Amino acid sequence: MSRFKLLDAVAGFGVTFSTMFKKPMTEQYPDVKIPTAPRYHGRHQLNRYADGLEKCIGCELCAWACPADAIYVEGADNTEGERFSPGERYGRVYQINYLRCIGCGLCIEACPTRALTMTNYYEMADDNRSDLIYGKDKLLAPLPSGAQAPPHAMAAGSTDEDYYRGNIIGPGGLLERQAKEALQ
Ligand code: SF4
Ligand code: SF4
Repeated sequence: MSRFKLLDAVAGFGVTFSTMFKKPMTEQYPDVKIPTAPRYHGRHQLNRYADGLEKCIGCELCAWACPADAIYVEGADNTEGERFSPGERYGRVYQINYLRCIGCGLCIEACPTRALTMTNYYEMADDNRSDLIYGKDKLLAPLPSGAQAPPHAMAAGSTDEDYYRGNIIGPGGLLERQAKEALQ
């Protein structure tokens, strides 16, 4: 072996020996789950207002913004007898295909009502394709405590603008301005 090759080998073992005495970085998942960064892009969530109505208005902006074509939305009209969201429309069908999603977050930036956000949940592995297409049953946020599941009417005396401006503050749909008036 030439002198230079011998030096190369010694240098290579030098890296090995210095690494042997470093603290191991192995994560013991799934026995130990390390919290994600606070703004980690995990599973999406379709949010609700405080009275249980859905924030999604079925506009499809999230689907158009998605570079991976992972979102499918079908909007439908609310009626006074069957209302799922404030305003004219709601998301009747909402699906995210997690075989396609790259977690970029462009969809949540595009959403005009903050209906769509991302959680820190990441354990979405499965053994078949169809279970990785999440529908409203998996994506909708839980009902706030005391709120009624849609369909139901908007809060008495409220407009859709009250919802978009964040004036609906309780499970019964109490308007912020009414609460302020009651305190005066
Ligand atoms: S995070 Fe990105 S890839 Fe995933 S659904 Fe949203 S826009 Fe599409
Ligand atoms: S999640 Fe937001 S952007 Fe997507 S359809 Fe619903 S309201 Fe529109």
